Amino acid sequence: MALHPRIILLGLPGSGKGTQGMLISHAFGVPVFSSGEYFRSLRREGKLPSEIAAKINAGGLVSDEDVNKVVVESFLSTRQAQVGFVLDGYPRTVAQAAFLDEYLTKQNLHLDATILVDLPVETAIRRISGRRVCPVDGSVYNVYYSKPAKEGTCDQCGASLIQREDDREESVRIRISTYDMITKALTTYYEEQNKLATVAGDGNPEDVFGRIREVLGDPA
Ligand code: AMP
Repeated sequence: MALHPRIILLGLPGSGKGTQGMLISHAFGVPVFSSGEYFRSLRREGKLPSEIAAKINAGGLVSDEDVNKVVVESFLSTRQAQVGFVLDGYPRTVAQAAFLDEYLTKQNLHLDATILVDLPVETAIRRISGRRVCPVDGSVYNVYYSKPAKEGTCDQCGASLIQREDDREESVRIRISTYDMITKALTTYYEEQNKLATVAGDGNPEDVFGRIREVLGDPA
């Protein structure tokens, strides 16, 4: 694998992309950018436009145009993205993937790998139902797998943990069907470019990361 790889993570909501993104980021020394986390950070700062907030809360997708703009302006065009990256939650539509390809090609760059973290829907739903987040610093916990030291309380800042609005059952159903109807097509898109690797997403984060490492190899 290239020294500064450009990697994309695909998978159902709850498949563990966020956790794996961080592990890859540490191992390969590249920054991770999560479009969903970026929107949540805007929300924490009171800067998320209300029409975008409404779409996210309902479990729908933000428009391709808005997301492409955010990802370029807030990440891809910045200095930190010049050493490679892991993208978590972007692209999520074929139109976004085509936009990203075009953006990179213009700079003589390319993606090194696209990893699908594969998990049965029922397992993903169970993971999401246990997910709790800190409304102050965005730390993520899980009541089943990754509990805070004190129940319901953020280890980092002591704030009371909450459930993400879009992690409620009704929104989760919509997010999963959106994945099936729209995002799944990305696997074919990258398969056709011979860029897709699929790893099983079950087990603990270290197990999954071990599988990803096998796919990526060592930093060269
Ligand atoms: P995530 O944290 O990746 O599950 O994203 C949370 C929510 O943010 C999604 O359900 C969408 O509403 C929105 N979002 C994040 N990334 C994208 C994207 N690439 N395209 C459209 N909407 C997005």
